[in-house]
Amino acid sequence: IKRIGVLTSGGDAPGMNAAIRAVVREGLHLGLEVYGIFDGYEGLHQGKIKPLDRNSVSDVINRGGTFLGSARFPEFKQQKTREEAIENLKKYGIDALVVIGGDGSYMGAKKLTEMGYPCIGIPGTIDNDIPGTTYTIGFDTALNIVVEAIDRLRDTSASHKRISIVEIMGRYCGDLTLGAAVAGGAEFVVIPEKGYSEAELLGQIKAGIAKGKTHMIIAMCEHVTKVDKLAEHIQAETGHDTRATILGHIQRGGTPTAQDRILASRMGSFAVKLLLEDQGGRCIGVVNSQMVHYDIIDCINNMKRPFNQELFDLSDSLF
Ligand code: ADP
Repeated sequence: IKRIGVLTSGGDAPGMNAAIRAVVREGLHLGLEVYGIFDGYEGLHQGKIKPLDRNSVSDVINRGGTFLGSARFPEFKQQKTREEAIENLKKYGIDALVVIGGDGSYMGAKKLTEMGYPCIGIPGTIDNDIPGTTYTIGFDTALNIVVEAIDRLRDTSASHKRISIVEIMGRYCGDLTLGAAVAGGAEFVVIPEKGYSEAELLGQIKAGIAKGKTHMIIAMCEHVTKVDKLAEHIQAETGHDTRATILGHIQRGGTPTAQDRILASRMGSFAVKLLLEDQGGRCIGVVNSQMVHYDIIDCINNMKRPFNQELFDLSDSLF
């Protein structure tokens, strides 16, 4: 392997830039040439490819988002589209790829590996929903943003004796919601892993009011229920002013935390080293603070993320 490419794909996450930087700098350090592929698999298909030198990744370690751009490109699921994309890899003499993204991006990486272009997947998503790693790049930054938002909501909820529902991202993974609930001291946490009953939640809120609580924060993972409707129901049932706040894409932006930058730097460097060992079709994780790697398909299809029951119990006992 002499020349590698790097791309970011799927949802963006703070720390992706730090990962790209690490791929570029480690690659150059180990005597490789590194090419940047812009706008994910779409850009790969369109041939948006440029060589990157060490200065092309100057001053990006502290920037959120991804300077390479990202895209959703469902056409990449078709063999023919991938064959056309591979023509571009051939044209530029790129032998292998580092793909930074979520599980969808991993699928594309696996297929390219099967077609003779070894790929390494780096988990980049705020959702923390990828198996084979305790943390994904972007999760820590998003967590801090959500906690800050909860702190702000607490101030105004307390002043107005209000119930606040905060809708938090994570797709179908409750990690961001659970972490933010514990760190933000939310009274209630609703995550997909534990199921949801509106009647039960209403009962708990009423019990809280009976115990003398004048304001409450409910941390609610997205896709569980319609928070605006829930706010109306709570207000009708309890008589307490209730508001829903959907944090939305605010959670995806901002300066990456030190943790995310360090994780991204380690993963980017590790990915290049794996490629040099001829290890294609792998995905990278951090487990017990160590870098690990797994078969990318086994990871998506068979591995499960362990549920953090201890943290969930805390969110219950400390409220
Ligand atoms: P994420 O990587 O964050 O999970 P997506 O699921 O949108 O985001 O996947 C990102 C991109 O990966 C898709 O837009 C598509 O280009 C590519 N992709 C997703 N699934 C597949 C697949 N089964 N085969 C090939 N490419 C895929």
